[in-house]
Amino acid sequence: MANDVYKRCNFCGKLETKVKNMFSAGVYSICDECVLYCYDILADQGIVAPPEKNKKHQLAEEALSQGDITLKKPAEIKAVLDEYVIGQDDAKISLAVAVYNHYKRILSLDNNDDDVEIQKSNVLLLGPTGTGKTLLAQTLARLLNVPFAIADATTLTEAGYVGDDVENVLTRLIQAADYDVEAAQNGIIYIDEIDKISRKSENTSITRDVSGEGVQQALLKIVEGTVSNVPPQGGRKHPHQEFIQIDTKNILFICGGAFDGLESVIKKRTDSSSMGFGGNIKNKNAETNVMKKVLPQDLVKYGIVPELVGRLPVLTVLDELDEPALCRILTEPKNSLLRQYTKLFKLDGIDFVLTDDAKEEIARKTIEQKTGARGLRGIFEKVLTGLMFNSPSDPTISRITITAEVVRGEKEPIIEHQRQEKQGA
Ligand code: ADP
Repeated sequence: MANDVYKRCNFCGKLETKVKNMFSAGVYSICDECVLYCYDILADQGIVAPPEKNKKHQLAEEALSQGDITLKKPAEIKAVLDEYVIGQDDAKISLAVAVYNHYKRILSLDNNDDDVEIQKSNVLLLGPTGTGKTLLAQTLARLLNVPFAIADATTLTEAGYVGDDVENVLTRLIQAADYDVEAAQNGIIYIDEIDKISRKSENTSITRDVSGEGVQQALLKIVEGTVSNVPPQGGRKHPHQEFIQIDTKNILFICGGAFDGLESVIKKRTDSSSMGFGGNIKNKNAETNVMKKVLPQDLVKYGIVPELVGRLPVLTVLDELDEPALCRILTEPKNSLLRQYTKLFKLDGIDFVLTDDAKEEIARKTIEQKTGARGLRGIFEKVLTGLMFNSPSDPTISRITITAEVVRGEKEPIIEHQRQEKQGA
């Protein structure tokens, strides 16, 4: 117990990281699941009222939780995303709604008693590098119970060029579904770096079709819905090979990209539309949020074919991460860097302390690197590598404190000794 960084429920033994709420009194804790369990017992005994359940709600839930798919409501999906991803509320809400509607769509396909067909709403996430696009997709994958695959658009090429066929994205989804093609047909695919296949992308190379448009057209086909023949193990198609047939009509696509340079396209449009009286008055806030004004036509100007833009109707923009956001990312998520390193040191019986000013300094240095939150780990590791190397050899160390001066390289970490017997039964 004493070695646990996190609190543990005294009833069921779960760690606080595995539950939504942990209630503590002194050294004793109980998790929300055990509280609810106790409440149910009291309700059975007629001591408390049974938990309120709206009948209509319950029926809808039952209807929607047939088969393998249990429905998570948008707020529940967002709550899970909140545990891992800091900020980015707009993106979380859009994704939560899109995914929830995707579930409902799949379920309504099974019992379609009217002629209303719910169309899928694919999502496009726009945001600078390292702001959490992939993390959002990965967290979604963890919480969903439909097959989910992540692909990188930069590796895709038009058939006949060096690289991955676009269909390999589907192979990955089939693999994620353990070759259950029917499940894969209702899955979700996240395609990262979609901006890199824009017509004007500088990423073009002689090994790929020069314009990027061929890849977009191929992608468009599967996003729109087609029956595709994919090689079961991925790789290039070749004759005499067995194929798996997959219908992509019901697959939900989430695309993400940094879209560097899109701001100037948006600015050009908004500047020309704000000419005339008052047209020159500049709003500072609006300046920093240019991306939020994105319209589908800006993406077309950027070099994404209009048909593909039309197939990605939900546009959401992620925020640039500022210093407070980076400090939160360092400490708050369930598997934040600070929690990870605290645990690593704890396993050697050492308390690890990162002062508030050290957190701010790390955030400041990360912003200078312009790599978003991705830079946090590098800076953190640079500060800690020496310590991680030396401290396990010195069993007398009991506490290590990192201050802003240490992060700046001006001082050595504060190391306290006089360790009492910590490890053991
Ligand atoms: P990108 O937007 O380029 O896809 P990623 O999602 O890959 O960025 O982010 C890189 C890393 O930075 C993640 O693994 C995560 O540790 C961290 N990170 C980025 N944004 C956030 C965020 N909003 N909340 C928590 N961690 C984040």
